[in-house]
Amino acid sequence: MERSFKEEVAKLRLGEGETFHGEAILAVTKALLQSGVAYVGGYQGAPVSHVMDVLNDARDILDELGVHVETNANEAGAAAMLGASINYPMRGAVAFKSTVGTNVASDALSNLASAGVKGGTLLVLGEDYGEGASIIQERTHAFAMKSQMWLLDPRPNLPKIVDMVEQGFELSEASSTPVMLELRIRACHVQGSFVAKSNRAPAFSKKNFLEPDFDYNRICLPPATYLQEKQKVDVRWPAAVSFIREKRLNEVFPGEMADLGIVCLGGLYNAVIRALQILGLADAFGNSKVPIYCLNVTYPLVPDEIVAFAKSKKRVLIVEEGQPAYIEDAVLALLRRHSVDGVKIQGKDVLPLAGEYTGEVVLTGISRFLDREGAVAPIRELKKKASELLSGLPQRPPGFCVGCPERPVFSAMKILEKESGKFHLSADIGCHLFSTLPPFNIGNTVLGYGLGLASNSAVHPAMARRSVTVMGDGGFWHNGLTSGIANSVFNKNDGILVIMKNGYSSATGTQELPSSPQHSDAKEDISMERALEGIGVPWMKTVHNYDVGEVAKTLKEAMTAKEKGLKVIIAEGECQLERQRKLRPLVSKQLSEGKRTVRVKYGVDEDTCTGDHSCIRLSGCPTLTVKDNPDPLRRDPVATVIDGCVGCGLCGENAHAAVLCPSFYRAEVIQNPTWWDKLWNGNSLRR
Ligand code: SF4
Ligand code: SF4
Repeated sequence: MERSFKEEVAKLRLGEGETFHGEAILAVTKALLQSGVAYVGGYQGAPVSHVMDVLNDARDILDELGVHVETNANEAGAAAMLGASINYPMRGAVAFKSTVGTNVASDALSNLASAGVKGGTLLVLGEDYGEGASIIQERTHAFAMKSQMWLLDPRPNLPKIVDMVEQGFELSEASSTPVMLELRIRACHVQGSFVAKSNRAPAFSKKNFLEPDFDYNRICLPPATYLQEKQKVDVRWPAAVSFIREKRLNEVFPGEMADLGIVCLGGLYNAVIRALQILGLADAFGNSKVPIYCLNVTYPLVPDEIVAFAKSKKRVLIVEEGQPAYIEDAVLALLRRHSVDGVKIQGKDVLPLAGEYTGEVVLTGISRFLDREGAVAPIRELKKKASELLSGLPQRPPGFCVGCPERPVFSAMKILEKESGKFHLSADIGCHLFSTLPPFNIGNTVLGYGLGLASNSAVHPAMARRSVTVMGDGGFWHNGLTSGIANSVFNKNDGILVIMKNGYSSATGTQELPSSPQHSDAKEDISMERALEGIGVPWMKTVHNYDVGEVAKTLKEAMTAKEKGLKVIIAEGECQLERQRKLRPLVSKQLSEGKRTVRVKYGVDEDTCTGDHSCIRLSGCPTLTVKDNPDPLRRDPVATVIDGCVGCGLCGENAHAAVLCPSFYRAEVIQNPTWWDKLWNGNSLRR
């Protein structure tokens, strides 16, 4: 796993009155335990992957309390797990990445929201929107509105986040409705402290059993669904609005500039207050001259709070990123409905329609709203200077890690492409999606996690040449097995599927999968191969990724095979990042004990290198780069391998499979050499 929380989880044991210091995502986990949660689940995905990582490291604490914890196969499974709270007064929480995960979960969520809940349910959603996001740019707000679930967006401040988790359960129970708590990436990693409460063991759990309950009105089937819809509107919605108002979940920060106001999403409060500080309109403690209405609950809105805040003002700015402008449109409609005239609502006229509202964006928007644009001129000037100074630096697109086992498969595809022409490749979510970037530029579409093969089904009949799909083992278990593979076999589709078997859900932090090496013993063989055989895949081959020639040969075989039907190539090679995480401590222990260690490294003979860089175009490994040609008569830079090479062997394999120049050499770096090493290699060994 990318990060272990073994040490931090001790904080989950803090009792009444003790002070918790740390990261927000750990604070959320503590707040769940303080709220008496009975079960937790989820599916890893930034920025909330760590909720599941923390819970997995804290299993002994959860066992003591009787809390059931489960790593779900996907977000739909996690959302469906919340069904336990429909009939039973058990609090439950799940975590996943939004909006992609919420898309996957939305069937279960619609049903859950319609049936309503007895026990409080909380969905902790990583709102992966804006700079650094790895997904399509949409907001969770739409899901809240369409299914009528309540959406919390707490101010990024630990006491507030913890309070909103606890209040979220209360709100859920007071209105029989699931509640979503969205956390942007910056909120997840904000540091701070709060005064802890003791953990609460749930009333019903694996330690204290329930009696089965049946209530037809909680089944999502007509006529119950008609009643549920009415209840949402007539009972649950008003109950939620009353709760939010009575418990003051939203916050009003007064200010002396009473004819102006800012309404902001809770998650954007820090950017707003920082902008006001820079403009000299707020102090370091958050006291602002401009009144602020901070929406820690962005759905549902509380109409009378908005009317009370806006009615005496001349202008109000809504700070809400992305499109549609849900809050701005709702506030405009609401004020009109309540006949509030004379206040001008601003938002998307001074702030951008799309993109993350970073500190600089919010500062620019607020300065426009306050007619103080001149105040940001020095910052712009500074930024311009910085970008001029940095203009000489080369761009650094993302790519596979050094020694990644997925890179050689795309090298093999490049070789095949050169030999027999281009083919369509349906890509999927995972590290392998880096293949769409230079130097490979392979992969024509991506439609969703585990959906690569499904997205290929209308492409392959329209192609003279067999098309290829790439799927990771993470995508395979997420839903690729059913949506893609079963669908393809059932429909007798033709095509090639390459499954990257790197052993983990690597792109989200190397969480374990059913087929991870640690689960593949004889007793518990949840292997992809068995699943594929069971489904009746007619053609299946396994290749070792680093054997580029063999991978290219197998791909060619699949391309030209006479048999129709799905051809699956399992490309095996453990995630190098995870492999190095395991190897490094072992090697450093061996070194400290004075034991002999051997490290393989590749290099380029600069006298033989022609400087055509075809090796780089076939690899893209960050440690295979260029340097000035040492020969004064030659101008082309030569290839070179810098420190960091993990000796994966791809350089040699590519040189061989693509018949490149003979410049590459393989070296062994021996540390703590034996007398035999010294004798054999003379005195040139490193000590
Ligand atoms: S995390 Fe693993 S699979 Fe992903 S790019 Fe790095 S080495 Fe490759
Ligand atoms: S052998 Fe080549 S591809 Fe592998 S890590 Fe070293 S430089 Fe990178």
